[in-house]
Amino acid sequence: MALLTLRFYEELNDFLPPQKKQQPFSHPIDRKASIKDVIESLGVPHTEVELILVNGHSVDFQYQVQDRDEISVYPVFESFNISPLLRLRDKPLRHLRFVADSNLGKLSQYLRLLGFDCLYRNDYEDAEVAEISHQQHRVVLTRDRRLLKRKIITHGYFVRSDQPRQQVGEIMSRFDLYDDAEPFTRCVNCNGQLVKINKAAILDRIEPLTRKHYDDFKICEDCGQIFWPGSHFKRAGRLLKELIPKRE
Ligand SMILES: [Zn+2]
Repeated sequence: MALLTLRFYEELNDFLPPQKKQQPFSHPIDRKASIKDVIESLGVPHTEVELILVNGHSVDFQYQVQDRDEISVYPVFESFNISPLLRLRDKPLRHLRFVADSNLGKLSQYLRLLGFDCLYRNDYEDAEVAEISHQQHRVVLTRDRRLLKRKIITHGYFVRSDQPRQQVGEIMSRFDLYDDAEPFTRCVNCNGQLVKINKAAILDRIEPLTRKHYDDFKICEDCGQIFWPGSHFKRAGRLLKELIPKRE
């Protein structure tokens, strides 16, 4: 039996019940446990955590908690430099790529619209999402905390909102993606890359009105879908406008 004192900081409090938010609280445990297990038993996925201090010293997820430990748990810091302390994972992934779980179809489409690489299928099993993330170094996006508890997932984000547009905003802000959007570069349907294609080559595949009004076309390298400024591009422009004023 051990009695711990824990305090969670910033948005990690989103996962806690009111009486545990924003303040130290006691937490008894009755068996040996790693700090990862303790944190996740309180509902906070390990992928949300960037730094853990026990009695003032940084520890990793394997640390075995001891009686009377005073534990502070911090989320990903955006600007605060914690390099002298032990970060729980290697540097942030340099080129951010995502894999979204099967409930986040709309979000994946929005991310692709903005040019972000996001794998998604509506029949993904949790284990598959975890494996893809691990193998391809992709950030898991999910609204399922249990999925984020899997050990092989090192980079993940628990999506708070259930509204797709707000979800994109969350992700742009959490990963600071405002300068990285490249609209019109990725296929919303399959995540393939879009490349320019000569209008003459696709004349038989476009409607007469489209043929008349547009000259710039792109085609998805993977699924062959054709895109032009009237469809896809306007949506992306509107979405960006809607999201970008929110940056502060
Ligand atoms: Zn495609």
